[in-house]
Amino acid sequence: MMGRSALVTGGNRGIGRAIADALAESGDSVAVTYRSGEPPAGFLAVPCDVTDPETVESAFATVEATHGPVEVLVANAGITRDGLVATMSEESFAAVLDTNLTGVYRVVRRAVRPMVRARRGRIVLISSVVAMQGAAGQSNYAAAKAGLIGFARSLTRELGGRGITVNVVTPGFVLTDMTAGLPDKVRDAALAGIPLGRYADPAEVAHVVRFLASEQAGYVTGAVVPVDGGLGMGY
Ligand code: NDP
Repeated sequence: MMGRSALVTGGNRGIGRAIADALAESGDSVAVTYRSGEPPAGFLAVPCDVTDPETVESAFATVEATHGPVEVLVANAGITRDGLVATMSEESFAAVLDTNLTGVYRVVRRAVRPMVRARRGRIVLISSVVAMQGAAGQSNYAAAKAGLIGFARSLTRELGGRGITVNVVTPGFVLTDMTAGLPDKVRDAALAGIPLGRYADPAEVAHVVRFLASEQAGYVTGAVVPVDGGLGMGY
């Protein structure tokens, strides 16, 4: 028996991979997008660059043909291009917005019509604690991640009457490739502000996403859910 059709963007590694594992563990039929490297084993892996609408279309077409229309969408793919705003190139600013905000719009836009027809769906967007707190050197990233919150809340109002929930998760500092390259000084400073006194494991984000994507979370929508060890104090 097939479970719900779930799609995780950037599900080939890091937090996205942990989310894909968690959904699969609950019985969903999980597809993941990948853009570089090897497709991960154990999932339907579809090539997709969220900055390219044609690959978004072909990824959804493959998932629909194999697992059926997407019922659970987790928009997780994201990048950083850090730098102080005074010296940040327009290209770095635009690239982060294009992937982290417009890229999410592209996949959500493609997902919603079948969800509206089915009168059911779960959408979870992966933002960041930085959306709420800002971070020196991450103005592009913070702008995109904060944009996701207004985007999600508008979708909540557009889609609520069709039984579709839309929620945002704001992770704090999670141990993945994205944070592995940060200088020790930055990592130590981040740690000092985390009441739990440690970084998150990707699975700890994934379990919260899995709950928001579950049937049991049917009355949770428009929420911004921190998974940050207390860093943002719940906002
Ligand atoms: P990683 O750098 O480990 O993985 C990023 C993922 O996004 C990869 O799968 C990558 O694919 C994919 N991706 C990037 N750009 C594109 C694109 N244009 N099209 C399709 N896929 C793309 O990051 P994390 O796992 O740490 O982060 C996942 C999400 O969580 C991101 O949105 C990030 O901003 C957010 N987040 C992370 C935090 C952390 O501390 N790590 C904290 C808060 C939020 P590929 O392998 O092909 O490059």
